[in-house]
Amino acid sequence: MITRDDCEKFDERDVLAPLRREFRLNEGEIYLDGNSLGPVSEASSRRVNEVIDVEWAKGLVRSWNTAGWIDAPTQLGDKLAPLIGARPGEVLVADTLTFLLAKLIGGALELRSDRHVILTDAANFHSDLYIVEAMAAHARRPVIVKAIDRETLDEHLDTDVALVMLTHVDFRTGEMLEMKGITEKVHAAGALMLWDLAHSTGAVPVDLTGCDVDFAAGCGYKYLNGGPGAPAFMYVRDRWQGVTTNPLPGWLGHARPFDFEMHYEPAKGMRAFITSSPSVMALGALDGALDVFARAPMKDIRTKSLALTDLFIALVEEKLPAVFEVVTPREHDKRGSQVALRHRDGYGIVQALIEQGVIGDFRAPDICRFGFTPLYLRFVDVYDAIDRLVDVMERDLYLDERYMVRNAVT
Ligand SMILES: *Cc1c(COP(=O)(O)O)cnc(C)c1O
Repeated sequence: MITRDDCEKFDERDVLAPLRREFRLNEGEIYLDGNSLGPVSEASSRRVNEVIDVEWAKGLVRSWNTAGWIDAPTQLGDKLAPLIGARPGEVLVADTLTFLLAKLIGGALELRSDRHVILTDAANFHSDLYIVEAMAAHARRPVIVKAIDRETLDEHLDTDVALVMLTHVDFRTGEMLEMKGITEKVHAAGALMLWDLAHSTGAVPVDLTGCDVDFAAGCGYKYLNGGPGAPAFMYVRDRWQGVTTNPLPGWLGHARPFDFEMHYEPAKGMRAFITSSPSVMALGALDGALDVFARAPMKDIRTKSLALTDLFIALVEEKLPAVFEVVTPREHDKRGSQVALRHRDGYGIVQALIEQGVIGDFRAPDICRFGFTPLYLRFVDVYDAIDRLVDVMERDLYLDERYMVRNAVT
């Protein structure tokens, strides 16, 4: 039996505990949805205000130079790089994730012009599937996308495969794939590897250099806490820079944007992947959010994340035996930083729980999803969240007819 006292003791020993103060959290509310939209940090708020009140208000157009706005996409990329095991000059912050996937898919296809197959996971996030289909349809040669059961990857890896695109942590189940081994297999087949890090970055250690990954991209607004619709990031391994082309070129990715030349010539390095003007205020929010990570070693984040998810799973099994199916793998090396519970009435359960002050989310058809962010969650929060979940189940609160109609965002 795990008691609330035990959880208080875990919190006393938690090296990341002081970081909770850096976030604005609602009193009495337990936020288990940082995997969907991270909360505001004080640093984000300060930095956005500085951008507006000083750089924009006073500096006006001069700030493109004097405040370094023009270099923010690559500078923030370098700031983010250590979180994903990338080196300086390999990461760019721009656009949003689906756009960056388009750029990387288009670029990768040109590097393997003798091959015509892209492999991806049939259970991938829908946006990833839409954009890969569209990029294949717009390729300069016939290209087909095979959305496969990822467990059967080996059978499909033949000399026709140009690119394999997988999401490192499954957004629904929370299962984490083995990046190094899979990337090696893909390379052995002569194909290129693109990892989607949407549910990994800021939550689990990622070593793109050590895993010899070609391309990667991820979100700014999930575990990185960059704010709703925050810019995303992309990674191009140094050996592919200057070789991979940007299928969506634009003026700020030109070698000399202010020469206004009619002919496109890509800039050197990651700048070549820039299309448009950076979203400066949004970059400010992400910039501030990344400051918090500078104070939190990824090793500590991972240790606490596993402890929080272990605790949540143990409490579900102890207090709600046989009510939910725990979909997320028990093995640590296969788990991201979320726990997915399957239940026929999942939508109502999540809604009823939100009314009790525990924010999770629902992923159709039947998954209650709970994200665990070690930067601000306490062990007692996990304990109290389960208490409220038990209440929702025992009092049948989730069967209320208000939950028969779903909101636009679940
Ligand atoms: C959240 C998410 C996206 C959505 O990204 P946008 O920035 O809204 O384009 C895409 N893919 C995966 C795997 C995600 O988890």
